[in-house]
Amino acid sequence: MLKDFKATLPPHVTLVAVSKTHPVEAIKRLYDEGQRIFGENKVQELISKQPLLPKDIQWHLIGHLQTNKVKYIAPFVSMIHSVDSLKLLREINKQALKANRVIDCLLQVHIAMEETKFGLSETELDEILSSEETRAFQNVRLLGLMGMATNTENETLIRNEFKKLKSLFDLQRSRFSVLSMGMSSDYKIAIEEGSTMIRIGSLLFGGRSFT
Ligand SMILES: *Cc1c(COP(=O)(O)O)cnc(C)c1O
Repeated sequence: MLKDFKATLPPHVTLVAVSKTHPVEAIKRLYDEGQRIFGENKVQELISKQPLLPKDIQWHLIGHLQTNKVKYIAPFVSMIHSVDSLKLLREINKQALKANRVIDCLLQVHIAMEETKFGLSETELDEILSSEETRAFQNVRLLGLMGMATNTENETLIRNEFKKLKSLFDLQRSRFSVLSMGMSSDYKIAIEEGSTMIRIGSLLFGGRSFT
């Protein structure tokens, strides 16, 4: 199943298996099929699952992160997709230093129409990227951008939102290598528009139970 899905992906696209709400047994099953990168959207859920699973899993935090919770994941998290302020980046750098690590980070950009989705505006993105402070951080590695398209059937809208994110990514092509865009419902469009990392939950794990 995992193998069949991965066979459909171009080689430059990295698969993050989004395991939120799924039990460690389900994660272990995908692990046994060879998957090593898993994504969670809540710190509490991530830190409760991580100790129960193999140590060579690369954990990605893909959901909104509060500054005061960075310290709980800094010792082990592999990548944080949801950096949406300089303040948060500063705290990740500080906690990574404490843990004697370098943490890969993506800046989350708001590309969707929906008000509720987190992320930076273009202006805020520019501010972080041009800040002297950002360049001086030793314990975070800013690898690229993440974005979520509007939850809609309108493929043109989704495609245009991904195009927008890709254009922002291309402006920083000399420093960026990761463009995280695409979920179960829209990953094909995302890949067509230049995604290098897709975050897939329901397609791999089956429907979530919303408790
Ligand atoms: C849940 C989630 C996904 C995966 O969603 P699916 O529709 O289950 O593939 C991707 N990205 C983020 C930020 C998520 O919270």
